This record gives sequence, C-alpha cells and structure tokens, in this order.
Amino acid sequence: MSLKIRNLAIIAHVDHGKTTLVDQLLQAGGTYRENQAVQERAMDSMDLEREKGITIKAKNTAVHWEGYTINIVDTPGHADFGAEVERVMKMVDGVLLVVDAFGGPQAQTRFVLRKALAEGLKPIVVINKIDRPLADPKKVHDQVLELFLDLDATEDQFNAPFAYGSARDGYFMDSPDDEKVDCTPLLKKIVKYIPEPKADPEAPFSMLVSNIEWDNFVGRVAVGKVLGGSVKKGDDVWLIRKDGSKVKSKVMKTFTYSGLATTDSEGCSAGGIVGVAAGIDGIDIGETLVGSPDMEALPFVEIDPPTVSMQ
Ligand code: GDP
Repeated sequence: MSLKIRNLAIIAHVDHGKTTLVDQLLQAGGTYRENQAVQERAMDSMDLEREKGITIKAKNTAVHWEGYTINIVDTPGHADFGAEVERVMKMVDGVLLVVDAFGGPQAQTRFVLRKALAEGLKPIVVINKIDRPLADPKKVHDQVLELFLDLDATEDQFNAPFAYGSARDGYFMDSPDDEKVDCTPLLKKIVKYIPEPKADPEAPFSMLVSNIEWDNFVGRVAVGKVLGGSVKKGDDVWLIRKDGSKVKSKVMKTFTYSGLATTDSEGCSAGGIVGVAAGIDGIDIGETLVGSPDMEALPFVEIDPPTVSMQ
C-alpha cells in the first residue's frame, strides 16, 4: 500500500525565500496566509473549545495537493540549533534546498545541507528568485553542485533534481528556459522524488519523541513521526523511558499540521507527523511511545550540544 504522505524540511539561508515558497505551496493547495491571519485575529472572540484547537502555534505546515499531505517541518538555520536540526532530519524523508539565484549558497545553506546529507537525505534543489535582474541560475546550479562535492555527497545525492523559479511570482520550472506557469512542476517533483515515509500501517502504534511542544491546556505535547499503526484520542499508550521503564497512559489529544496551524485532529496514521498529549509528566525527546506494553524502545542517538561552526 502506498502512503500519500511526504515529510520534508526546507533548508535555506535567511532571506533566500523559504517563507515565500511555503506560502506559494500552501496557495497551490488552497490555503492562504491572509486567511490564517484573519483566523488568528479572530481568536480573541472565539469560544474556549475553538481556541484550544490552535493553541500550539508552530511554523510547521501541511500542504494538501492532489490527495497528498505534504508535511513541511520547520528547520532552524542557525548553528546554535544543531541538535534540533538533526532531529528534524531524522523525522523527514527529504529536503528542499532553496538557494538565491543571485547570491548562491551561503553559510546556513551549507550548515543545514551538511546535516541533511549526513542523514542520507536526497535534496531537491530549488533555485529561487530567478526573476531578479542579476540572477544567474546556471552559475548557481554549478555552485550548488560544488557544495555537494565539498560536503561529500553520495552519487545519488549529487544527482539531485533541480527546479528553477520565483517564489515571489509563483512559478517553478524543470529548466530555467521552460515556460513560466505555476508551482505544479515543483509539487510534482516533491511527490516524485521525496520517498514516502517508511512506516507500517499494520503494525501497532509506535513513535519516537523527536520534539516537545507546549499546549496551554494539555501541557507537554510529544511530537514525532508515526512509524507504525495509528494513534487517536482515547487510545492506551505506553511511554518507554530511556532507562527502559514503562508508564501507561491514555491519549488526551492529538495534533496534526493543517495549513499554517497545528490543530486538534482526529488522530494520525502511519507515516504522518503528530503531536500527542498523554498527560505523562516529563515526557521527553528520545523516549518512545507505543501502543502495546510488550513493545521495545525505538533507537535514539543522543546528540551533543552544537559543536559545528557555521564556517
Ligand atoms: P526567508 O528568510 O528564507 O523565509 O525569506 P522570505 O521568504 O522572507 O524572503 C526574503 C525576501 O526575499 C522577501 O523580501 C521576499 O519578498 C523576497 N523574495 C522571496 N522570494 C523571491 C523571489 O522569488 N524573487 C524575488 N525577487 N524576491 C523574493
């Protein structure tokens, strides 16, 4: 069975157009940031239940396109967040590398790309801002390939697909000389080249806690990719601590990305990225949530505080 889910992160140096690109992809899927702003402003007057649904404000988004859910996990670009970047790279199955067609790759491009390549992810390269008068997409294409070589990319990673376009003007093409139409060529590339998540819908529920978010009503929310089965409100779950001890609890609430917000959800199935509130004190990154008491912890590699410099 194929999963119509894609989980990706966007790597970009600040100002190269990550936010604008996400907005364009959301629009292609029918979500507009303007509408979201109105919704958020409207929150003051909303009743409590409604408010509860969008208390977790994340920059993470989901684009719904042609029956696919494309989860975009936000990635900090700065070296101070090295451990967080590594956890994001473990959760996603691919990355979009956004590079300004004038300026070429910069320090943050290099820093996050290094982590993505080390994790074995194959990037899709997006040469953005080709509308700029001094843009030189072909030169930047070569600079990106040089960077791949410099960072010891594998042959497969080196053969990354490229897209060229303008997030501001809303078009991407397979070649800089193609006709400028819309974002469809890029969305097609995402669905084609980013592998579907490796997850087993038939297995019992399991999830590695990859991040912790906070919700005013339910407290700590464990965020991760569902590696097996599914999870929904009311399910019994067991948290496996790092020392192997297990804590039984019940899912109080689940959150998934939808458009620009993280919202209350019906639940989440294999391959998706979910936030689970289960009322477990101190639930933490690196612990495993499972759906049956006899299951084992998922492997977690402890990441030291950042040591990599931006240079
Ligand atoms: P981020 O820091 O990577 O999230 O970058 P933003 O999406 O905020 O974009 C930074 C600036 O570049 C903004 O002023 C955008 O309007 C502009 N920008 C983004 N994409 C394009 C593009 O395709 N062409 C041009 N000319 N400007 C762009």
